[in-house]
Amino acid sequence: MSGQSVLVVEDTDEIRELVATVLRRAGMDVREVASGAACLEEVRRDAPDVVVLDLGLPDADGTEVCRRLRAETDCYVLMLTARAEEVDLLIGLAVGADGYMAKPFSPRELVARVQTMLRRPRTPSAPEAPASPEESVRRLAELEVDPDSREVRVDGAAVDLTRTEFDLLSALVSRPGRVLQRETLLREVWQTDWEGNLRLVEAHMSNLRRKLTAAGLSSPEIRTVRGVGYRLVA
Ligand code: CA
Repeated sequence: MSGQSVLVVEDTDEIRELVATVLRRAGMDVREVASGAACLEEVRRDAPDVVVLDLGLPDADGTEVCRRLRAETDCYVLMLTARAEEVDLLIGLAVGADGYMAKPFSPRELVARVQTMLRRPRTPSAPEAPASPEESVRRLAELEVDPDSREVRVDGAAVDLTRTEFDLLSALVSRPGRVLQRETLLREVWQTDWEGNLRLVEAHMSNLRRKLTAAGLSSPEIRTVRGVGYRLVA
C-alpha cells in the first residue's frame, strides 16, 4: 500500500465520510476529524502528507487553520469551499492552500487532485533534460536548491518554503534565464491546465518571492514577464 496519509477535516458527516471513503478506496491512509482544533491536534501528533480542509468549520475559520498548518507543517492543503466564488477571494487573501475545490465536487476529481499532490515530482522534468539517475544540487549565484532533501539555501542559510513554493522554485531553477509561462508552471506543479488556477500560480509565486527576499536573496531574481509568466535572472 502507498502509506500516504490524508487528514480529512469537515464537520458535515456525509461529506466527510464520502471524501474519506473515496480516498480510502484509492489506497490512501485516511484519518477524519470534524473541527479546526482536532485538525491541529492531529497534525501535531502525526503530520499527514495532505490535509483536505473544509473552509466552514464550527470552531474556527478554515483560512486561520490553513495559516496555522502552514506555520507548523509542510503538508499539502486542499481547501474545500461552499461556493466557487470563494476560491478567487481566498487566493486573493493569500491563505496559502495548495489547491481549492468548490462544493459540490466530483469525488473522482477530488481523488485525482489529492493523487496529483502525492505524486508531484521532486523536480519538474524539463523536456530537453536528459534523464539522469542522480539529481544534484543546483547553485545559482546566492541560491542553492537541493532536489533530494528539498532544501533551499540563500548564502548557505536554509529558507523555509512550502512544498508548492519549492516545486515552483525548482521549475525556475531547472531553466534559468528562460521564460516559464504560468500555464507551464500550472501543468508542471499542479498537473492541471484549468485556467482558473492561473491566479493560484501568481499567489504562490508572490509568497515564494517574499520569502526569498526576506532571506536576503538579491541574485538570482524572479522576474515577472507581464501577462506571460516568470523567469529567473542571475
Ligand atoms: Ca462545513
